[in-house]
Amino acid sequence: MLEVKGIENGLVIDHISAGNGLKIFNRLFADTEYPVVLLMNVSSQIIGKKDIIKIENVFDVDLDLLGLIDPRITVNVIKNGALVDKVKARIPKTIKGGLQCQNPRCITHTDDYAIPEFKLLKANGKMEYECSYCEEITVYKL
Ligand SMILES: [Zn+2]
Repeated sequence: MLEVKGIENGLVIDHISAGNGLKIFNRLFADTEYPVVLLMNVSSQIIGKKDIIKIENVFDVDLDLLGLIDPRITVNVIKNGALVDKVKARIPKTIKGGLQCQNPRCITHTDDYAIPEFKLLKANGKMEYECSYCEEITVYKL
């Protein structure tokens, strides 16, 4: 297996389904000034193939966004070379902004002051969100 040096201080974002690593990298870390590596298609006993992102000097990450992309992700927090915390990505119960209503006649498309707000209805396999303005269901996809 390809060897990549562990990190001393930072995050290891693990159990990313193969293919999602690049999406996460582009969404969260494309502009970072810190050393970051994206490992793709690493063998995993749990999920077959996975991607891993390691980033130094960063301790905060948007767990909601990770959960929307891939809820199985775990985030390992490393300080002074030791694992100090392990947190799971989460699927947000509500989303404000960042998602467009699927209903073309929804007021949120025409009224600049109507910020789309969504409530999670279902999260097995696909994540379905209900628009608070028109009650149309929108399936979240990146
Ligand atoms: Zn709507």
